[in-house]
Amino acid sequence: MRGKCLCEKIEFEITGTVPKLYQCHCSLCRKQGGSASNTSFIIEAKNLRWVCGQEYISSYVKDTGFRSDFCAKCGSPVPNPLRNMPYVWVPAGLLDDADQLKIVAHLHVGSRASWDTISAQGTRYDTMPKFAELIELLHSKTKT
Ligand SMILES: [Zn+2]
Ligand SMILES: [Zn+2]
Repeated sequence: MRGKCLCEKIEFEITGTVPKLYQCHCSLCRKQGGSASNTSFIIEAKNLRWVCGQEYISSYVKDTGFRSDFCAKCGSPVPNPLRNMPYVWVPAGLLDDADQLKIVAHLHVGSRASWDTISAQGTRYDTMPKFAELIELLHSKTKT
């Protein structure tokens, strides 16, 4: 499955099965994406291949370590590596033909915006589950 930024300079390919999605409703993700939450998934780094445009990627890292990679030309968030782990975070909205995808988790529901209406599907977490638990949930084969 392929994904592109808004201006299409940056393109990447995901090999293997695309996992299930989660939405993070925390204040950082709100600023990063400009909306109530971001919708994304996490895959092993080896399953992401850059097709073109890597030279357009800009990176911003907050003092806390929160990181946002984005296209320097159009501003779309793009996949970024997780700290000290062989995984990458991928924003779901960049994918083309993503009909089969499904949201299974909502993170940081406890600090969501007052105007945020959370969809009915998916497990809600007040903050965040353990990383291993989240990975297992996103990559589970069962239909939830
Ligand atoms: Zn772009
Ligand atoms: Zn967040």
